[in-house]
Amino acid sequence: MSAPAEDCLFCGIVAGDIPAEVLHRSERSVAFADINPAAPVHVLVVPARHIESAATLEAEDAEELADLLRTAREVARQRGIADSGYRLVFNVGADANNTVAHLHLHVLGGRAMTWPPG
Ligand code: AMP
Ligand code: ZN
Repeated sequence: MSAPAEDCLFCGIVAGDIPAEVLHRSERSVAFADINPAAPVHVLVVPARHIESAATLEAEDAEELADLLRTAREVARQRGIADSGYRLVFNVGADANNTVAHLHLHVLGGRAMTWPPG
């Protein structure tokens, strides 16, 4: 695994240096509760290896991406929203309010989602 990026909040959570409500760890991903939930279930799934954003993914990141999606599915099952449904979101850039520069997949559920999102 590559070294954690300096001053990266989510690398700190992956390493256990920054406290978080970790819900699941897979071979390549860590899932933890979002600190400011936007839905009854709001979990972030991040690659253990520092990848900056969905816009910087390379072919060599394919395993991480597949593992993120598998982990999101497992989290949805564990949290009881697999059947009711959920939304998976990658925010990219300023207009999407991307605030943390470590790839993270939002898993949102537990209520009906509106479309388009606000
Ligand atoms: P984004 O806006 O897509 O960059 O999402 C960043 C998410 O990280 C937001 O939903 C925040 O609420 C969440 N967040 C920020 N700091 C923490 C933290 N220490 N633990 C858990 N979630 C966090
Ligand atoms: Zn990081």
